[in-house]
Amino acid sequence: MIADNIKAIQEEIGNAKLVVVSKNRTIEELNKVYEAGHRDFGENRVQHLLERHDSLPEDINWHMIGHLQTNKVKMIAPFISLIHSVDSLKLLNEINKQAAKHDRVIPVLFQLHLGAEESKFGLSEDQLPELIKKVSSEKANYGHIDINGLMGMASNTDNKEQVRSEFRHLRDLFDTIKADFGTKWPNFQILSMGMSGDYREAILEKSNMVRIGSAIFSTN
Ligand SMILES: *Cc1c(COP(=O)(O)O)cnc(C)c1O
Repeated sequence: MIADNIKAIQEEIGNAKLVVVSKNRTIEELNKVYEAGHRDFGENRVQHLLERHDSLPEDINWHMIGHLQTNKVKMIAPFISLIHSVDSLKLLNEINKQAAKHDRVIPVLFQLHLGAEESKFGLSEDQLPELIKKVSSEKANYGHIDINGLMGMASNTDNKEQVRSEFRHLRDLFDTIKADFGTKWPNFQILSMGMSGDYREAILEKSNMVRIGSAIFSTN
């Protein structure tokens, strides 16, 4: 059952934050998640985010976890809690601009491209420090975004050692950036990694936010 699954996973992940990934689920299923007391929901498509935001209670924190097109930022800017998938300066600029229109500060994570062949999105390791450096040096121009950390997906493989080493790599990068830029971005604290198939490995590598769908909604 959904409530039991949430409880079991929350116990396993300790203090890490659980984002329930609601993609492909019915409103009825999501209501069960809500009734179980859960308030952090993740979607990978803007259209679904809008529909669900309209159909479910106001006090849900909505997370955008999928690839975000620049021209769609304006639709989610009024309410989005955290954008996990920032992968370009252009997108960051647009988020800042749309957040300003709504008099908001939108928390964002940079998405890193790890080994995962299934995801073609995300910044490369060379691009990331450059981008953070630029945004940090022009921080006054970025008053409507708050850089909160990093997100990454590991390869879809049964090789647990490989998965762990990809997560470890992301965490090392996270630690380095935090050491270098943490005073500029005091909320640089979130390391979003781990899904249904690999959250245990992610937690072992000190993930503090996991995005889980199927393991919560499976009925067996
Ligand atoms: C779908 C998705 C998840 C959750 O996947 P599950 O395997 O169902 O847990 C996590 N992160 C992203 C970016 C996703 O698109």
